[in-house]
Amino acid sequence: MTDKPKLTTTAGAPWPNNQDSVTAGERGPLLLQDYQLLEKLAHQNRERIPERTVHAKGWGAHGVLRITGDISRYTRAKALQPGAETPMLARFSTVAGEQGAADHERDVRGFALKFYTEEGNWDLVGNNTPVFFIRDGYKFPDFIHTQKRHPKTNMRSPTAMWDFWSLSPESLHQVTILMSDRGLPKSPMHMHGYGSHTYSLWNDAGERYWVKFHFKTQQGIETLSNAEAEEIIGRTREGYQEQLFNAIDQGDYPRWTMQIQVMPEKDAETCGFNPFDLTKVWPHGDFPLIDVGHFELNRNPENYFAEIETAAFSPSNVVPGISWSPDKMLQARIFSYADAHRYRLGTHYDQIPVNRPRCPVHHYHKDGEMNVYGGVKTGNPNAFYEPNSFNGPVEQRDAQEPPLRVSGDATRYDHRTGHDDYSQPRALYEKVMDQGARDRLHGNMGGALVGVPTEIVERWLGHLAQVHPDYVAGVRKVWQEKSRDAGYDPNGLPITGDTPHEAGDEQPHSPTIAAE
Ligand code: NDP
Repeated sequence: MTDKPKLTTTAGAPWPNNQDSVTAGERGPLLLQDYQLLEKLAHQNRERIPERTVHAKGWGAHGVLRITGDISRYTRAKALQPGAETPMLARFSTVAGEQGAADHERDVRGFALKFYTEEGNWDLVGNNTPVFFIRDGYKFPDFIHTQKRHPKTNMRSPTAMWDFWSLSPESLHQVTILMSDRGLPKSPMHMHGYGSHTYSLWNDAGERYWVKFHFKTQQGIETLSNAEAEEIIGRTREGYQEQLFNAIDQGDYPRWTMQIQVMPEKDAETCGFNPFDLTKVWPHGDFPLIDVGHFELNRNPENYFAEIETAAFSPSNVVPGISWSPDKMLQARIFSYADAHRYRLGTHYDQIPVNRPRCPVHHYHKDGEMNVYGGVKTGNPNAFYEPNSFNGPVEQRDAQEPPLRVSGDATRYDHRTGHDDYSQPRALYEKVMDQGARDRLHGNMGGALVGVPTEIVERWLGHLAQVHPDYVAGVRKVWQEKSRDAGYDPNGLPITGDTPHEAGDEQPHSPTIAAE
């Protein structure tokens, strides 16, 4: 009893009673001066911070990145030199669901990595898919609106999703992956991760190479059917948290092999497709995977809120030797992710311990929200502006990346014309998937389309027809069969004689767990 820590107020004073409020007489009422009661209730009201608009539900752990290959000819980044070991944090997530959503939903998974390098934090904020639904950040808020709740019904709206996708053929590749086996991983440990965007590496000679980052699970790919996932969700909504936490707790540390694909800077001009288009992969045959190393997750957070909920990942965090590319989605995310953290956590969110760089930090950003953990430091109190005569921090010109070479006029280029949105989904369907995988894709997609207005479904099927005749035939067949089972006629119209669903009407099932 005596060696237990002593309970105090948040100001450190001894606290005598944590059971009984101070009342006037045994039956009350309460006294306003019982400040610690007010403090407890006020804290309770403030225990939640704004959840992320997307990727709200997440699971994470600490680990280490080890470099075993040699890519020093491409990059000067110290964390990527042979033999380097860098502490890191990983956070995996679903995209659409809120914080209380079930883990085992059919959805893209976020795959966010923060490497605490000696040259500053490097964040790679990718997904478990190599591509994305859109290629221009202008459409980002619109797309996310379709994934969240309908403003009137406050329900998810399959109509909105399929309407947007069918009007955005660039989504075809990602939707095909989402509705395939890999759209429902068994756990965070059983999926690959991708930087997804094209980034760049640059070396001491000032040469830039375009690069794609890949993280291949060493646990093997394992996925679930919708029916298996529904059964798990019936038992637990925290299935991913349980699996990741327990594996690490038991010393069964998950690992991912790190690989890159490389394209010399000049080759982007002659590449047969736009290598900065987030809806496209770089075919392995043309751009072979190069081994870099691996990362291992080996330490659970002590406090989920402090180490995962307040973790702030942003593609804006790069270090010398690693940079961005002209990818329009990446360029938009450079702003929007850092800004999400300013809003959610406060202006100086990088001072929160889990986000704090492990190297010295000196800058002139002053005051503001969250300037708390030791404050902004310049090394000299008189040096709070720049330039100054008081030995304040000076810029590091040798960290300047080579120029980003651009061509063309500054205007709005139509991102929907002149692109081939069909060949890569076709390669996936034709070359990578066997018949079983195709049948499951048809089943998942056909089921998810039930109840969506027929004109929208037909527009979507029109895109599938341009990918492969078997694709459209397979999905159409399942959609018609399941529509009939659910009370719609073979064209997806309600057989009760009621009018078809209007855009915005809600469907009877979650779009993320479509019927098998
Ligand atoms: P490859 O045959 O060399 O590679 C196919 C890739 O597809 C493998 O990485 C494989 O993963 C992955 N894969 C298998 N099933 C699925 C699925 N259901 N959803 C997503 N990925 C899957 O082919 P190419 O490089 O020529 O690409 C062909 C198509 O493969 C692409 O159009 C794209 O759809 C897909 N793909 C390509 C990737 C790339 O970076 N080139 C990355 C991922 C997918 P695994 O390594 O576990 O076998």
